[in-house]
Amino acid sequence: MLAPTLTLSFDLELLHGWTDSPPGLRARKRAELADFRPRFARLVAALERHAVTATFAIVTHLLLSRGLTAAEYAQVDRLQELADCPADADSPWFGRDLVERLLASRLGFEIGCHSFSHRPFDALDAAAAALELAQSCRLAQSFGLHLRSFVFPQNRDGHRGLLAQHGFRCYRADARHETVGPRWRKAVATWLATAPPRPRQPVLDEHGLVALSPSLHLAGFAHGPKALLRRLPPVDTFRRYVDRGLAATVEEGGVLHFWMHPEEYGHDVLSDDLDYLLGRAARLRDQGKLAIASMGSVADLLLAEAGR
Ligand SMILES: [Zn+2]
Repeated sequence: MLAPTLTLSFDLELLHGWTDSPPGLRARKRAELADFRPRFARLVAALERHAVTATFAIVTHLLLSRGLTAAEYAQVDRLQELADCPADADSPWFGRDLVERLLASRLGFEIGCHSFSHRPFDALDAAAAALELAQSCRLAQSFGLHLRSFVFPQNRDGHRGLLAQHGFRCYRADARHETVGPRWRKAVATWLATAPPRPRQPVLDEHGLVALSPSLHLAGFAHGPKALLRRLPPVDTFRRYVDRGLAATVEEGGVLHFWMHPEEYGHDVLSDDLDYLLGRAARLRDQGKLAIASMGSVADLLLAEAGR
């Protein structure tokens, strides 16, 4: 078992996460993103305040300084309306400014990959998946970045062998069950604490990649069924989950892996809640009981132990 470790992964995608959604939902998400940049700044500031590093897995389209050509967009089967358009400062499709902010931090945030266009990998043929990865690596390189960690769009796994061929070292595994399924049933389970977040042991897969399973998607406690039940006594279910996950990790070792979208910060994940989590983790770290590491650093450790 690895020493007790906290890993945070953030899927940064802006409107690319909603390209397949019905127009009404996409419009609502677009409106929600209107105040995203100040929320993102507050999220990064909160991480810096507690000196907690993290992996930001980005949709690499965000790195473009202007839209691709129409022919290039045709290859990825979407976003024709962005052909040759300049990357405006507040665009929901571009985000060099966001990545630059992360790279300017003394915390050394890891920039990982969440594909180029956010198409789910289980729906792509090998050539299309390879194109997603090659474009991502090329764009990252032009930004001086080497991508090592991958998060599957919609947590839908596929073409893992291609990840290894493109130089990736690890990916987030098996997260899909967290985002599909009946919300009320999940809310009741959360309230009863039948399945609190647990530390996971990363494993080497058949391609030599490190598979990092998540412990908990942090969203969902601010609105809807989980938030309603959370108000009932006797305990705050979010904080109980955080405390239990951290306690189990310190006791048993392994990686407590929380994930969310930065876009959820201040909406679906309350800033007070994340602050609580970061404060608890930082205190355990300062007591020497918990390491805090990016996905890539956890993978490096495991691969070094395995002699790779
Ligand atoms: Zn995503």
